[in-house]
Amino acid sequence: MAIRIGIVGLGKIAHDQHIPVLTASPDFELVAAASHHGTLATGATFRTIEEMIEGAEALDAIALCQPPQVRFEAARLALAAGKHVFLEKPPGATLSEVRILRDIARDHGVTLFASWHSRYASGVEPARTWLAGRRITSVAIEWKEDVRHWHPNQAWIWQAGGMGVFDPGINALSIATHILQPFFLTDGTLYMPENRAAPIAADLRFTDAAGTPIRAEFDWRQTGPQTWDIRVEAEDGLLLLSKGGSELTIDGAAQLVPLEAEYRGLYDRFAALVKAGESDVDVSPLRHVADAFLRAERRRVEAFED
Ligand code: NAP
Repeated sequence: MAIRIGIVGLGKIAHDQHIPVLTASPDFELVAAASHHGTLATGATFRTIEEMIEGAEALDAIALCQPPQVRFEAARLALAAGKHVFLEKPPGATLSEVRILRDIARDHGVTLFASWHSRYASGVEPARTWLAGRRITSVAIEWKEDVRHWHPNQAWIWQAGGMGVFDPGINALSIATHILQPFFLTDGTLYMPENRAAPIAADLRFTDAAGTPIRAEFDWRQTGPQTWDIRVEAEDGLLLLSKGGSELTIDGAAQLVPLEAEYRGLYDRFAALVKAGESDVDVSPLRHVADAFLRAERRRVEAFED
């Protein structure tokens, strides 16, 4: 039996990924949405999540695709109503709220899935396999993109809890926490536009228990070619994950990787969790973002205008 699912927040990611992937999935039936402005072509649209929970027939699950600042209350309502919940990344605006959601899911016997789409990029699993057991000597992460191109008119992303450049940067951290040994921030700088509450760039230095230097540079001011690279030097080779994890080279040689299917991978995982009666709530990428706000220096930079 297909899992009957509703979506909350018909914005960019709902249209680009959730709706097409759910429509094509044999595991799910997309039956409803809750949206202030949009309409779901193939199901009922409600104005609020409360109305959707009340009005949508036999709803099993809900995917929350709104900004992180408003996701907790929606997730709480959904879990308490006995619905399985898929959280877009990042799973919340704070670590503590995600912890509470995990407990609510457990108490109601439903699945909570904190999704990290970049972990399902084609090159990530082969990279993880190649790195396992190797001695790593250094890691360099460069995640640099043009915010005007990728995030036009997204006011929430610049507000407190929107995380600024960590909105894409957390994707790099979700891959790094998946393929590397545990690491932690030692120092860094957050570059804060004088008219914004969230950073436009971040330069972060991490290390791990073995003392490996790990540097991450996130920047939203990049025009021209965009960079989403993770470069890992091991004692016996150099691994490069590029284009957000979708391409992999080892010692300069391109590796054959599966076809791109990040959101199909996420929904396969969500369906498996629901069937198994389990949750998957890994907050390690969000913890690094919280650590950056705790540990890094803040430097004011020129105002950013859209
Ligand atoms: P978006 O285009 O701004 O859409 C967010 C939607 O959430 C809005 O269209 C709105 O939908 C709803 N919403 C509810 N409360 C809102 C509020 N206070 N402010 C703004 N919107 C509100 O954002 P998005 O790019 O889809 O991103 C949503 C989440 O998905 C973020 O956590 C982001 O990190 C994640 N994500 C985005 C991408 C991407 O490529 N954009 C990729 C992967 C993950 P209604 O009008 O229907 O209510």
